Amino acid sequence: MKRTKKSAKWGDATLAIHRGEPRHGRGGPVAPEIVRSSTFTFSSTEEMKRWAEGKTSAYIYTRYGNPTLTIAEEKIAALEGAEAAIVAASGMAAISSALLAVLSAGDEVISTAQLYGGTYRLMRDVFPRMGIRVRHVEADLAGVEEMVTTQTRCLYVETPTNPSLRLVDLRRAMELARAFKLTAIVDNTFASPVLQKPIALGFDMVVHSATKYLGGHSDLIGGAVAGSREWVGRVRENIIYLGGCMDPEAAFLLIRGMKTLGVRVARQCKTAMEVARFLERHPKVARVHYPGLASHADHRLARRQMRDFGGMLSFDVKGGIAATRRFCDRVRIFSLAASLGGVESLVVLPIYTSHYRMSKKELERAGVEPGTVRVSIGLEDAADLIEDLRQALR
Ligand code: PLP
Repeated sequence: MKRTKKSAKWGDATLAIHRGEPRHGRGGPVAPEIVRSSTFTFSSTEEMKRWAEGKTSAYIYTRYGNPTLTIAEEKIAALEGAEAAIVAASGMAAISSALLAVLSAGDEVISTAQLYGGTYRLMRDVFPRMGIRVRHVEADLAGVEEMVTTQTRCLYVETPTNPSLRLVDLRRAMELARAFKLTAIVDNTFASPVLQKPIALGFDMVVHSATKYLGGHSDLIGGAVAGSREWVGRVRENIIYLGGCMDPEAAFLLIRGMKTLGVRVARQCKTAMEVARFLERHPKVARVHYPGLASHADHRLARRQMRDFGGMLSFDVKGGIAATRRFCDRVRIFSLAASLGGVESLVVLPIYTSHYRMSKKELERAGVEPGTVRVSIGLEDAADLIEDLRQALR
């Protein structure tokens, strides 16, 4: 089994399809195998000893590494333009392992208040018990300078934010991180590496819920962290000892999903724009949150920072929660389901899903209204999706 040659010149689609894949001779399989083994043989006790001394990187046990996981990791590293990447059991395993690679008891992290609810609750409910202090800023990062103390170690942002679709200026975030020597981490789940590459701007680590766009078919739970070899090595220690490794079966689905990432995201962006324009004109819709619309507060930043505007949007239905629930209960092509980034279009009420167990004040800060509907655009025909929204709003 030979590995493919590395080429810095390959485009994203070629990298997603070929990077990391073993090359077999004539008669070999084109698709990668799932190495469904928990453990791997040593050739001798001498090799065992060498492994214990850190002198070989041979596979020994899937929690430490596995050939199928390695293929997924090489693809993600290549797509993010990072030296290395590691996959994890879920987005939350990736996020917690990345943050805990930076933070210890007594440290502080500054994070945007607008975050995926799970990340927010990790910081609110778990980190204080570990002696880690969390301070929140708005998506515009105003006030970070005043917030930094000698204990601040990390700046954590998510852009576009879930579900309010606000943008964080990645260049500004990096200026602040450099000025105060903070480790910069960004959740790139909503954009995917197709639309923005934060490592090139200087970010130390990029985290993903691979459950979403990278996997793309709503059939796996996974996460990933990309960054320098050093950072990814530290995250790997956490994955090994906290136990959040990815299963090889999920890694296979992730590898397969990533091969179509580019075409999926391109089509989802196009359809999302059409849907956003339709919703913006609809009399029963109070506000549409989509960075591609000129009316969006961060539209100019989105044009500068992203290659396209993404497949996620949210909107506020006039008439508050009662009208919103009536709408959600009537969609036929859209499914009423949490998660995002798959081929099926989904709608969801963030107050009852991603942002449950949050106070009114916290929801306000996160930009979530009771009547906010989050929409994940899939690969159905745009005309059918628009017709479905029209009948459900009616
Ligand atoms: N980050 C974002 C932006 C998300 O939307 C999610 C999940 O919805 C996560 C992280 C967590 O990922 P997972 O559910 O794979 O643990």
